[in-house]
Amino acid sequence: MKKNIKTLYIVTIIAILTFLGMQVYWLYGRYEYSLREYEHHAEAVIADVLVEYNKERDKKGVGQINTSYSLSHGVDSIGNASRKVTVSSSVLNGRKLLGINEERNLTDEEIERLVEIVTDSLQHVEEKKLSVDASTAPSDGIAWAAMRNFDLEVKSPFTIQGVDSLLKNENINAEISLTITDSLMWKPIAFGHESLINPLFKVISPYSELERKAVVIECRIPTADIFRELSWTLVLAFVLSLFLSVCLIWQISTIVKLSRLDKMRNSFITTMIHELKRPISTLKMCMSGLGSERMLEDAVVRTELLTETRNALDNLSAYFSKLRDITFNNVEQIPLNIQNVNLHDLFDTVARATVHPSGKTVIIKNNIDTEFIVSADRSHLYNILNNLVENAIKYSGSEVEINASATESVGFVELMVNDNGNGIPSGDLKHIFQRFYRGKASAGEQPGMGLGLSYVKLLVEAHGGHISVDSFEGIGSCFTIKLPQ
Ligand code: ADP
Repeated sequence: MKKNIKTLYIVTIIAILTFLGMQVYWLYGRYEYSLREYEHHAEAVIADVLVEYNKERDKKGVGQINTSYSLSHGVDSIGNASRKVTVSSSVLNGRKLLGINEERNLTDEEIERLVEIVTDSLQHVEEKKLSVDASTAPSDGIAWAAMRNFDLEVKSPFTIQGVDSLLKNENINAEISLTITDSLMWKPIAFGHESLINPLFKVISPYSELERKAVVIECRIPTADIFRELSWTLVLAFVLSLFLSVCLIWQISTIVKLSRLDKMRNSFITTMIHELKRPISTLKMCMSGLGSERMLEDAVVRTELLTETRNALDNLSAYFSKLRDITFNNVEQIPLNIQNVNLHDLFDTVARATVHPSGKTVIIKNNIDTEFIVSADRSHLYNILNNLVENAIKYSGSEVEINASATESVGFVELMVNDNGNGIPSGDLKHIFQRFYRGKASAGEQPGMGLGLSYVKLLVEAHGGHISVDSFEGIGSCFTIKLPQ
């Protein structure tokens, strides 16, 4: 059984850990998915923003005078198909002519003035020409678009501030920088997050492909928002894990409790058989003695046999009443016959009836006031004291001194029975009043069923009282009973 429980423990712990591991893995997957979802969304927004920004630039660029595009196909030196683009933009830099530096659309008046200046002189025309091998472009369409972007860059240069304000409008906070790429780049490239903590997402998008000019947009993924989105999933996963763990642990502790009860029941049955055998064999012996005429003739032997028989029957009867009382679940079910009892005299009776084991010195001191009266059930109080004294003798060495004393306060009396015996190990202390519990060290050495103290507690509580114990291993124990008066 012990081995089975150990295996069950291990299997349960593995099950809990596996479940927790799966939960963590699942949550990790959900988090990853949310990060990627955010990245896709941001990538689409950035693409839209760049298109929007190019439109704005197109509008802002003033007075394009002349642009020529040409795209030719050929074959390179090793026989591969090649594509060549040539673009030439002659753009009137109207802003320069008007002396305007800020980024804004020109007013009607400014445009009018500009036309005058242009008409006057075409000296301020800026011309830019480029011829690039565009063989790597995925299609002619992309090569044409690159030429138009070159033209746009001449007309209205790409600025960080322009993109930044548009991105901010879309709630994307990003670090933006402009760069020159090592080779021709035709399409934007997105770089997903590498780390889960503080994840970063980066897009490099060419804005003037033929000049290898690109914008780098790097943004931090707002993990707080993602966690907020996942909060219900997280709470649910946590509650579920907790619930499952508690259920499994509870299940195991119930099994452990049941197995302990099973063990207790077995030891109880064994001890009960042992305890019952004693008076029965005494009775058997007495009966065979009473059956012998020769023995009956001897008056001393006859009296002895009758006393032994009575004692054995008394023991049996006391034993069964104890068993009956202990099976009451409710203390109120225990019948009480309350009367005034002289505690000093009662303890004397207990001390006199106590059997002193051979080879053991037992000193019992009655320090209770001779006139000390308590109202209680006499026979129950007798059983309580008897159990405490018997235990003090049982759980001690070759010599033991037992002291009984009592004090009276308003509304209750306090009765103390202390001994200088073995004492109770601190690990046992909180269990000794439980049914069938036996001290770890004493269980094997002394006879008993672990019912004595639970019986005492039951009787004390039936009187509305309370029992407690102070004990130190190797020094002794002191049981204190408080009874209401
Ligand atoms: P039992 O004596 O049959 O074991 P009890 O309920 O009377 O059952 O006692 C429970 C346990 O408490 C004992 O097994 C023993 O370990 C401990 N115990 C009780 N009384 C004393 C005492 N006076 N000194 C030391 N240990 C004690």
